[in-house]
Amino acid sequence: MSASDTNCIFCKLVGGEIPATVVHRDDRVIAVVDVNPQAPVHLLVLPLEHHGTLGELIAAGRTDVALALLRTATALGDERGGPAGFRLVVNTGADGGQTVGHVHVHVLAGRPMHWPPG
Ligand code: 5GP
Ligand code: ZN
Repeated sequence: MSASDTNCIFCKLVGGEIPATVVHRDDRVIAVVDVNPQAPVHLLVLPLEHHGTLGELIAAGRTDVALALLRTATALGDERGGPAGFRLVVNTGADGGQTVGHVHVHVLAGRPMHWPPG
């Protein structure tokens, strides 16, 4: 873990070096609109600190940050998805489809989410 990783695009986003539509920010997490939305509502909730995965975040003892991710993602899902609901996704590693190595929770809403996908 490090407070910030200079090669990480999400650390740059947290630092304001790349623009983002920010919908929430507090002392632990930030939530932004995904640049390539997969649903009418597609937000990303990420810690201000750099951690690669949810497992690494928890292993670093940052359980307060892990809870903040879930709390914010759930609140935004409730707010943006309404009674129809929402989906939270944490892609992890190559097979999990993780393309940015800074842990983040996807908040998806605004259309039915089918499982299995496709
Ligand atoms: P992953 O595939 O790692 O689970 O999700 C990465 C997500 O980050 C993708 O949904 C992608 O569209 C989004 N993303 C990648 N680069 C940027 C960016 O510069 N800004 C924002 N807002 N989202 C990004
Ligand atoms: Zn980072």
